[in-house]
Order: sequence, then C-alpha cells, then structure tokens
Amino acid sequence: MAYEQERAVAVEAVILAAKLCEAVRRDMVPEAMEKSDNSPVTVADYGSQAIICCALAAAFGADPVVGEEDAADLRQPEMASRLQQVTAFVKAHIAEATPDLVAQWIDHGNGNVGRRFWTLDPIDGTKGFLRGDQYAIALALIEDGDLKVGVLGCPALAFGEGDPGLLFVAVRGEGTTMQSLSDGPAQRIHVVQPGDTERLRFVESVEANHGNQAQQQAVAKAAGITQASVRMDSQAKYGTVAAGEAALYLRLPSPKYPDYREKIWDHAAGAIVVEEAGGKVTDMHGKPLDFYSGVKMMDNRGVVVSNGAIHASVLSVL
Ligand code: AMP
Ligand code: MG
Repeated sequence: MAYEQERAVAVEAVILAAKLCEAVRRDMVPEAMEKSDNSPVTVADYGSQAIICCALAAAFGADPVVGEEDAADLRQPEMASRLQQVTAFVKAHIAEATPDLVAQWIDHGNGNVGRRFWTLDPIDGTKGFLRGDQYAIALALIEDGDLKVGVLGCPALAFGEGDPGLLFVAVRGEGTTMQSLSDGPAQRIHVVQPGDTERLRFVESVEANHGNQAQQQAVAKAAGITQASVRMDSQAKYGTVAAGEAALYLRLPSPKYPDYREKIWDHAAGAIVVEEAGGKVTDMHGKPLDFYSGVKMMDNRGVVVSNGAIHASVLSVL
C-alpha cells in the first residue's frame, strides 16, 4: 500500500489529538483567546497541534509542517499558566511533555510550503468547538502540489444512530475509509449516487460571515437541490459529502470580506477525503484548489465540493 507509514502515523496522531480536544471540552469550559487576526484559539488548538507535530517530527523529521497555530503568544511570561494547562493535557498522551517541549512541538508547525510537506489545522472550526458543535482535526500530506494522504477527525460527528466521533482517511488512488474514532473497523465510503434524492441536500458553514448564504441557497436551488441546507462547522462538511450524507458543500465568498483567501489547512484533508470517495472539489470558477503556492490560495475564489455528478451543473449555475 502506498504511503503506509505516513497514513499510520497521521491516523494515530489525529486520534490522540481528538482525545485531547474532547478531554478539554469535558474537563473545563474552554475559553477563547484572541489571535492577532481576531480569530479564537483555545488550549485544545495548541494541545492538538503539539501532539500531531511531535508525532510528525519523530517519524518524518525532514518534512515541514504548515500548521495554523504557533507558540509565540504562549511563550509570553504572562501566558505561563496557559502553557502549563496545555502541557497538562498533552502529558496525558506524551509522558515526557514539558512546557518547553510543548512550545517547541507547536512551533514545529511553522514550516513552509515546499515540494513535500504536511498541512495541519489542529482544530478547524474553533467557533464550533467553543459552541459545543462540530469541529475537525485536519491533517494532509502534499507532494508536488498534489494531495497524497488526508486524515480528518470529527469528534462530534455522527450519522444516523451511530455514536459521535468519526475518522475519515484517504490515500491518493486508494479510496476513502470511515471509522469510529474510538474503535474500528474502517469501511469504504462513497459519495451520494445521482438517483438518491433523499440525500440530495447541501451543507454550508454555520458562520454566515464565512460564506454567502443567500447565494449558496440560490445556487443549490438552481442546481436542483430543494431541501434546506444543513449547517455545520469545519471540514466535517467534507466528511458529510464523502460519506454520501450530502451531495454538495458550497462556500462562496462573503460579500463582507471580498479579499478573503481560503487557507490550505481549511481544505487539504477534506478535499482528498471527498475526491477519493468519488467526489469533486474545485473553486467557484471550476479551477483546482492550489496546494502548491503558499498558505493562502491566492488564485482561487470560493470552494465547491460535490458528489461529482452534479458538479458541472453547479458550476454552470455559478
Ligand atoms: P467553517 O466552520 O466551515 O466556517 O470554517 C472555519 C474556517 O473558516 C476557519 O478555520 C477560518 O480559517 C475560516 N474563515 C475565517 N474567515 C473566513 C471568511 N471570511 N471566509 C471564509 N472562511 C473564513
Ligand atoms: Mg480552520
């Protein structure tokens, strides 16, 4: 099997990070700290990045990791008790963790985009995490601009009667599997088939400012989707399309933030999970997402994720 070691290391790291995040939600009321771009970060974002970067550094020390967080704020003297808190949660999984090591592991995620690199969102959908809703731990390996491995942990996601906690794993050319985060077995998943009208629904962000809900609604309707959208935070939306629980995920640029550019860690893991389940991912103009040039996808606008079958009609409506 291709990328066997990468897949195994990534899966184990994401499962541990998911346990840490759920422990934070269980053991404390996670508080939002504000980053310089006004977006929230929590003890769990830092702990998740520390755990995953520690595992990647040990197994693939030469690979850069392009992660969302860095430890600059946490290293400030007035943040010492926060760093202690993060360290305590990490220590539950990595016995040798100290504040210094934890800060170093987090900063291992300050790598640059290159020929081969990992990209990590330690908590995608931090606002959902804080609200008690959906969030995801998203890790992907990229080589020469192509997604090779994607691992997406969704601790609060469930379909039907199942217990919450799903893990999606994709390797290029080998399909996508889904399993419970707490135990196996993994099953192959596929996007929704064209005739399945019950699942012909669409997903979009909870956060109205992360998209254009009026336009998303209109486009979905014009493409033949008559049901109301399902709103959820994070790349759990990609998992939902990959598992055939929705046919479409629309993320059209917010009129409030016309200059916003999507970040690679918000899409990399989710995109390969959907593609390997038989779906399609492009920007709103039909261009492939650019995982090659940098952290921000400067030449892409909006994101369209579908089961493949309806992709062309959605793009033509757009
Ligand atoms: P979601 O839960 O799908 O809304 O995605 C959460 C992600 O939205 C965060 O990780 C942010 O990186 C990203 N985000 C923040 N502001 C915007 C914006 N104006 N447009 C699109 N995405 C955004
Ligand atoms: Mg994110």
